[in-house]
Amino acid sequence: MRILISLIFFIFATSSFATTFEGKFIQGSFILGKTDPGDEILIDKKKVNVTSEGYFVFGLGRDRNNDVVITINKKKIIKKVLKREFKIQKIDGLDKKKVTPPEKDYARIKKENKMIANARTTDSNLTFFSKKFIIPIDNAIITGVYGSQRILNGKPKWPHYGLDFAADEGTEIKAMLDGTVVLAESDLFYTGGTLIFDHGHGITTLYMHMKKILPKKGQKVKQGDVIGTVGSTGRATGAHLDVRLNWFDVRLDPATVLDIKK
Ligand SMILES: [Zn+2]
Repeated sequence: MRILISLIFFIFATSSFATTFEGKFIQGSFILGKTDPGDEILIDKKKVNVTSEGYFVFGLGRDRNNDVVITINKKKIIKKVLKREFKIQKIDGLDKKKVTPPEKDYARIKKENKMIANARTTDSNLTFFSKKFIIPIDNAIITGVYGSQRILNGKPKWPHYGLDFAADEGTEIKAMLDGTVVLAESDLFYTGGTLIFDHGHGITTLYMHMKKILPKKGQKVKQGDVIGTVGSTGRATGAHLDVRLNWFDVRLDPATVLDIKK
């Protein structure tokens, strides 16, 4: 009898405290975890916050090639990270001026990169990240994907970490998720009109090359609200929206949270 009772208790205890994951363990992926609200969670060696509903979040970088160690109340789980093939494009014989920015812009670029990096360190207790994201532009054609890289005149360039939606200039852009504006700049060197939202627990989204920007820094925005319009500001080859997704300084693939045709 005693054995039976302890067996029932054991089954009950293990099943009620199970931790689940939504999202694939693949390079670039956004992973939403659900656990008991009181649990202590570490991703690799980083302690992550758990919401009162038991949600926590983390992401896997483009070049992540080692396993993830998830520690739940001091018990370790090891998860393999699957590799992806990213598009590599080689272009030779380019004019040097088009490959590197002019030296006079270096200081500005450095300052702006710092502003963006700083916005991505935001660690708030907002819990919006646990809700489903929506597509920022309906019926737009995807013209650029996460992880692709160009090699210009033999020099590997910074990989593309965004998802590009081609759309006419002036097309309305909707917020993919509820959030708070942590950066609103109308004219950055590379990214032009730029918005960054905080969604909690290190999750931020970026919107780039915008023509019009509606919310101000510090403003709260609801999912689906129009936040501005498509433009070709900054270093953009044509009118499009480039959106990005981060978990702190780890750049994730927005396609892993959006319901798009792949
Ligand atoms: Zn892009």
